[in-house]
Amino acid sequence: MEKLEKAISEIKASLPALRLLENEPMAEHCSFRIGGPVRALAVPSDVMSLTKICAILKEHQLAPMLLGNGTNLLFPDEGLPELFIISTEKLTKLFRLPDGAVYAEAGVSLSRLSGYAQQNGLAGLEFASGIPGSLGGGCVMNAGAYGGELKDVLESVVCYYLPEQRLYELTKEQCRFGYRSSLFQKLGGCVILSAVFRLEEGSREEIAAKMRQLNERRREKQPLDLPSAGSAFKRPEGHYAAALIEQAGLKGFRVGGAQVSEKHAGFVVNTGGATSHDVHELMLHVRKTVYEQTGVALEPEIILLPPDYKLEDLGPAVPRHILFEPEESGDRS
Ligand SMILES: Cc1cc2nc3c(=O)[nH]c(=O)nc-3n(C[C@H](O)[C@H](O)[C@H](O)COP(=O)(O)OP(=O)(O)OC[C@H]3O[C@@H](n4cnc5c(N)ncnc54)[C@H](O)[C@@H]3O)c2cc1C
Repeated sequence: MEKLEKAISEIKASLPALRLLENEPMAEHCSFRIGGPVRALAVPSDVMSLTKICAILKEHQLAPMLLGNGTNLLFPDEGLPELFIISTEKLTKLFRLPDGAVYAEAGVSLSRLSGYAQQNGLAGLEFASGIPGSLGGGCVMNAGAYGGELKDVLESVVCYYLPEQRLYELTKEQCRFGYRSSLFQKLGGCVILSAVFRLEEGSREEIAAKMRQLNERRREKQPLDLPSAGSAFKRPEGHYAAALIEQAGLKGFRVGGAQVSEKHAGFVVNTGGATSHDVHELMLHVRKTVYEQTGVALEPEIILLPPDYKLEDLGPAVPRHILFEPEESGDRS
């Protein structure tokens, strides 16, 4: 705690223009609407101030935690003594590169990204238009739906690697994407800053029609009227989590304010006043019951905080191409 307090004072002194929300309740920053205060939530205005915050934390043997749109996270009720960096307010540049590829910063929402692709007559991101996350969170999770995944259309990702304090550009192969997984989850310590997408030329009307059709399917099947963090469990090989949960008789099962959605058994919803404890208890019960009845062990897709890695535990460097070492910071004045 003392280390974090010192780091926060130093960050304030070095970046006086930085927006730093202290003791910020996270229920306001996540789609589950659950979670107590984190010690601080930094909103850097550019990449340089983001890397400066990381550098100051590292001097104190600390690492930041990253927040995108908060649509895949469960924050604990008691809060967290951590500094979070939110990417979605300022890191939002989105444009086409001279070679036709699409460049997007970490804070761009997946719906804006797919809308931009559609307006430019570029096909391949229709599946992402209804996913409520950001590009940064999307890359960490290799977000996907209806047969598409970000890895299918990504060309490269730029990230800041905390242990070395350097920016790297990774090819999509180096990102080691799998089903709802990536190098960024396994290695930790990577702050995603931007990505480049390679898309196919297509008809604007057809792309828009496909997006409308997929979003209609989503509205029909998913409990979008209640707070949640999307699918609670990953799809186990050879099965569907929602079907297993429904067959186990758990549709509508409740713990406190948390409930297995009556509309879609793969979702855990906050029916009002749910605590993180309620969600944990409910997910444990679902996992245990499904395992006892079918032998299938469900794995959470929702990221339950706090995570279990520390800066000193971060893995060794992987082969990457160094872009440049950050120098200047924008929140200084
Ligand atoms: C109603 C609903 C429907 C959903 N439908 C889908 C779906 O169809 N398909 C699907 O895949 N997901 C779905 N999700 C889940 C979620 O939207 C995705 O996982 C999304 O990619 C998460 O993005 P985010 O910005 O919200 O990430 P967050 O929840 O903010 O963070 C997720 C993880 O990424 C990390 N992270 C965030 N930004 C960065 C960054 N810049 N650098 C490094 N790490 C970062 C966080 O620390 C955390 O570990 C749904 C969620 C909801 C609520």
